[in-house]
Amino acid sequence: MTIKVRIPVQLIIEHKAIPHLYKTEIYEWIKDKKVALISGNGKTRAVTQDIIEVISGQASRIQVMSCENNSLDTINELERIVLEDPPEIILGVGGGKSLDVSKVVGTRSNIPVVLFPTAISSDAICSPVAVVKMLNKSTSIGVKMPQGVVIDLDLLASSPPRLMAAGIGDLLSNKSALFDWRLAHNAGKEEMNTFSNLMANNAVDSFLNLINRQEVDSPRMIQGAAESLIMSGIAMSIAGSSRPCSGSEHLISHALDYHCGGKALHGEQVALGVLFTEYLQGKREQVEKVGPIYEKLNLPAHYEDLGYTREEMHRAIRKAPSMRNRYTIFDEFELTDELIDQILDEVYPEQAKNRYQLTGSSAG
Ligand SMILES: [Zn+2]
Repeated sequence: MTIKVRIPVQLIIEHKAIPHLYKTEIYEWIKDKKVALISGNGKTRAVTQDIIEVISGQASRIQVMSCENNSLDTINELERIVLEDPPEIILGVGGGKSLDVSKVVGTRSNIPVVLFPTAISSDAICSPVAVVKMLNKSTSIGVKMPQGVVIDLDLLASSPPRLMAAGIGDLLSNKSALFDWRLAHNAGKEEMNTFSNLMANNAVDSFLNLINRQEVDSPRMIQGAAESLIMSGIAMSIAGSSRPCSGSEHLISHALDYHCGGKALHGEQVALGVLFTEYLQGKREQVEKVGPIYEKLNLPAHYEDLGYTREEMHRAIRKAPSMRNRYTIFDEFELTDELIDQILDEVYPEQAKNRYQLTGSSAG
């Protein structure tokens, strides 16, 4: 038996990808078509303008819709505008939320979507999953894969380092997510797709292999991170869910969002969660080994650096298993308050504090 896997028809990861868009197949898709751009805030608006300049002679109509957040209200409102006089293609431009919103609006109105990430803060840049805020709670929903993804490496090079750190955090989480997936499979709870597993694992490994050879903000590292996040998205598409890239470490991030005020970016919180769950998964040496990697990649290694107190972090761990009905390492542990405290001390030691700064913009 074989399965059909949806991947983007066009994947462009290049320098000057936006100014050179006219050389691509995507430019042909736009010819004489009604195009809608869903744009995030801040710097994204200038990027949206750059895209409009390139496509203005090619499209029959260009409509720009601004996207303030990823709430269900925003999505409903944009969908209403879209359905009034439907565009034939949607271009989603932004760092995170506007990409999610574009995917949801495109899926619900059955219009193909091309994404233009202005930063790589998570694996949502090319995945069949979108995060939507409903009743103050972030929920992941299944969406169609984008038909195309355009990553302009020059644009990424000028994005805030904080967004890059978040993207790498989301990428590193594949390891603990895959461990959890294997656990669920062994416990007879879930099917395991070996090909998806392989891809999500190789996505991280190929990035980790670059670390010893490259400076963190070198163009090759940025490109490597973008490529690996795309591979993660495709691994999810093969699995038909976020399973290969989202396990217990994501549950901790969801609990921080839902129970502790969601003070940091998704990928930053996931990076923090990885340290805890890898410890539970019995990879103590691994946690020690990733310490220098976190330092080199400028990833957050202590909850206080993300604005959380000890009490909040404790609460997030306590609540994490109930955040989603997904079998993980949490199901194989009896976590008492004493044990949580003991692990928190080991995993987030004093010396890991004050190494990460919460500066720079949100993922818009
Ligand atoms: Zn994630």
